[in-house]
Amino acid sequence: MVAALLERLGVAAADYTQGDYPVHTPIDGSQIASVKLLGKAETIARIDQAQAAFEAWRNVPAPRRGELVRLFGEVLRAHKADLGELVSIEAGKITQEGLGEVQEMIDICDFAVGLSRQLYGLTIASERPGHHMRESWHPLGVVGVISAFNFPVAVWAWNTTLALVAGNSVAWKPSEKTPLTALACQALFEKALKAFGEAPQGLSQLVIGGREAGEALVDDPRVPLVSATGSTRMGREVGPRVAARFGRSILELGGNNAMILAPSADLDLAVRGILFSAVGTAGQRCTTLRRLIVHRSIKDEVVARVKAAYGKVRIGDPRKDNLVGPLIDKLSFDAMQGALAKARDEGGQVFGGERQLADQYPNAYYVSPAIAEMPAQSEVVRHETFAPILYVLAYDDFEEALRLNNEVPQGLSSCIFTTDIREAERFQSASGSDCGIANVNIGTSGAEIGGAFGGEKETGGGRESGSDAWKGYMRRQTNTVNYSRELPLAQGIVFD
Ligand code: NAD
Repeated sequence: MVAALLERLGVAAADYTQGDYPVHTPIDGSQIASVKLLGKAETIARIDQAQAAFEAWRNVPAPRRGELVRLFGEVLRAHKADLGELVSIEAGKITQEGLGEVQEMIDICDFAVGLSRQLYGLTIASERPGHHMRESWHPLGVVGVISAFNFPVAVWAWNTTLALVAGNSVAWKPSEKTPLTALACQALFEKALKAFGEAPQGLSQLVIGGREAGEALVDDPRVPLVSATGSTRMGREVGPRVAARFGRSILELGGNNAMILAPSADLDLAVRGILFSAVGTAGQRCTTLRRLIVHRSIKDEVVARVKAAYGKVRIGDPRKDNLVGPLIDKLSFDAMQGALAKARDEGGQVFGGERQLADQYPNAYYVSPAIAEMPAQSEVVRHETFAPILYVLAYDDFEEALRLNNEVPQGLSSCIFTTDIREAERFQSASGSDCGIANVNIGTSGAEIGGAFGGEKETGGGRESGSDAWKGYMRRQTNTVNYSRELPLAQGIVFD
């Protein structure tokens, strides 16, 4: 079945049958393919090709570059169902979320096409007579993209579409857990290249590999920008290495996202928001709701309602009518069980979190989502465990809730459910949430592509996707032009 799907997506059989690195589906743990992992020398050879492509592509007018991305969007529309299904098979997302991820790719294509006619610079008033100043934005070079397993296609598209309209080439190292969706993206992109006709060879390079390949990308001085999405552990290694050679990085790392639930909130809305944010993608989104900071006066009622909602969640094969699919692998399951044991040790009361469907799927890891009522924001709560665990903390006054929201090392997403405008505005003010995303009456996950996406502190500080994130993929040049017959110096300096 996977073979038929990959064939429809345009992936050659040799690419997924002839390697020695096994690919498993988290749905039942079975092996579905084997791929070849590239080493250092092969990665460098791909960067060589991307560099050559960049040198030609940077001279193509930006709106024309946008045309390639427009065609890619068309190809994605035509293959949305197949690519979405492959995401479900390889990453374990339910069908709706697999399709949603491909839709996100299509949306960013549309955004980037518009952007290709809007890479605006400024004109600046010069202090000197007969002079003008302006700011131009130029392509950077080969953009290195390192992506995580949990958004195996969208993150690449966020980066690649912007990088391409900006005039760059791309070298992509996907997660070793999701090479098939990467092969499919590459094949679909090649269809767009064919329809476009005249793009330089090697504009988008796929580097399927492990740490060695990742490090080759990170260390290559011809890669001026590395956009790396994954754990904070990975960012701690990648960020300083890129900085050591004065490269730039966009780091999109772990989150530990909270919801403040105020007594005035619409609880029906809030419970639905909690369910989607905490349980969606089996708790494996960087923006997953991990901490519920709820006013003590409504805590018992809210916890009872959330438990009731959790009890009804259908867990199972993500391609069937279920809401929660599997965890990615056993390591992830073990990390979840370890965190729940620690939560109990730290005084927490745990509900749920047990393994499910083990008889049917002995090699796959389905779990019921867990709720852990905690006496304090203890160590386990401050750590991102990439699984569906919702820690519940009670608060008495709003300042305390804000402090709890901010008092973790990560700073990706946050939200408040309230109908009190003072609380809502304060939450989004300079002394409110310290996260890159701060929502009101919406959960922490499910961002649109129009906004810049990313977070502060240990989340890495990067921004990608919408707004002016494109500037991260270009270099800024300040131009001063003298159209007079004099040579006046700035600051009135006389140098005769
Ligand atoms: P991971 O850190 O294990 O791997 C991510 C990628 O980094 C993989 O491609 C991996 O091969 C590569 N990598 C690891 N070490 C490297 C090194 N030393 N040099 C170069 N490359 C290296 O993460 P994961 O388990 O795939 O994904 C889950 C994590 O990603 C979670 O922490 C989640 O919050 C985070 N995430 C963040 C965002 C965001 O936008 N902030 C989005 C998705 C996922």
